[in-house]
Amino acid sequence: MSTTHEAPRSLWRRYLDIPLIWKMAVALAAGVCFGLAANVLGWQDWALPVLEPLGELFLRLLRMLIFPLIITTLITGVASLSPQRLGRIGLKVLAFYLVTSAVAMTVGLTLALAVSPGTGLDLPEQGQEAPEPTSVSEVLLDIVPANPFQSLAEGNVLAVMFGAIVTGLALAFMLGSGDDRVQGLGVLLKRAVDGAVELVFRVVRGVLEYAPVGVFALIAAVLADTGTEVLLPLVRLTAVVYGAIAVQIIAYVLILALFRAQIGRFFAAAKDPMLTAFVTRSSSGTLPVTTAAAKRMGVREGVYGFSLPLGATVNMDGTAIYVGAATVFVANIAGVELTVGQLLTVVLVGVLASIGTAGVPGAGLVMLSMAVTSVGLPLAPVGWVAGIDAILDMARTMCNVTGDLTGTRVVAGTERGMLGDPDAPEDPPGGADAGAAPARE
Ligand code: ASP
Repeated sequence: MSTTHEAPRSLWRRYLDIPLIWKMAVALAAGVCFGLAANVLGWQDWALPVLEPLGELFLRLLRMLIFPLIITTLITGVASLSPQRLGRIGLKVLAFYLVTSAVAMTVGLTLALAVSPGTGLDLPEQGQEAPEPTSVSEVLLDIVPANPFQSLAEGNVLAVMFGAIVTGLALAFMLGSGDDRVQGLGVLLKRAVDGAVELVFRVVRGVLEYAPVGVFALIAAVLADTGTEVLLPLVRLTAVVYGAIAVQIIAYVLILALFRAQIGRFFAAAKDPMLTAFVTRSSSGTLPVTTAAAKRMGVREGVYGFSLPLGATVNMDGTAIYVGAATVFVANIAGVELTVGQLLTVVLVGVLASIGTAGVPGAGLVMLSMAVTSVGLPLAPVGWVAGIDAILDMARTMCNVTGDLTGTRVVAGTERGMLGDPDAPEDPPGGADAGAAPARE
């Protein structure tokens, strides 16, 4: 009986033993070849109906994990910190995100102003509807859930994070309570949530085994559908966006080096979420993979439970680059020279719009429309950019999650006890942050 089961099992084992990045890299290369072949040979009619559901399945599996992951890691992460420490970590993370977003905007605008990617192109005929801008107070009020269950059902990440932080804080106070009964209940609750975190990560690991199929299907579907010729008129914009993103990633490397992080170890863990972000075009969707990578780097829940979901929603360096560069592209086509005031408006709108927009495919296009409208430029060229948005979205989403992970790693490195041994991928049961009472300072 064992002999009949041995062959398939060992094959599956062998598949599991291949590092994920290799499987994903092979899938990516195969997807590119197949997608281009399908585009050239006109296979779209039969290939797209097969590829699209396979890709969608991967996206759904990832999305299924987002909220369980945010809620469990954030509650247990916050509960294991003292409120002062949480405030300090929160401020550091926010400051990091703000500074790197400003750097990204500057890189995107500077490179685009130097290259003028849109010169030589004429304004297309028909216009586009401008999206409704959201006011700052609306964006901020939206963070407090009037009904937490509704926020959950609507997928409002910031509101769910708010609820989880409040719960985690209350749990931290229970754990630190002088009343034995309350403390005992707190320990019980904390252990339950720790158990839930472990459970969610088991599911994450399972879902990642499907990632290569998803990667193949997603990249092949985009290329089969658009091909490369759509790129040609916009090749300069694409080069500027990819070039600026490369500069931004070099900036992350410098920041990591400045904070004495091991660059090799960082990218050894970061490569899986980077590739996943590249093909899924969603930093929220990539969150389970990003979180697993932060864990592999040795970062504790106290930091990543907060910084990663927040980063996936508000910190979009790649998108900032894209909004800056594409606004200059639109101004070039319209024959408008942007003033310093207009450039500052673009930066402000870009940063505010990114706070209120979730990390989903194509979100940057909405932000671009807002930026272009805010400085009074015509919307029509945005339609062109929309034609190649998928290709730009891949690189900017990859940059977005790399920025989130850089911030997470840097902040964890500056906080005592928030960075474990990166060589130990898992915490031992009952390890540093499992079930421990909050460290009071
Ligand atoms: N797709 C990006 C993200 O999820 C957002 C964007 O469209 O720029 O991070």
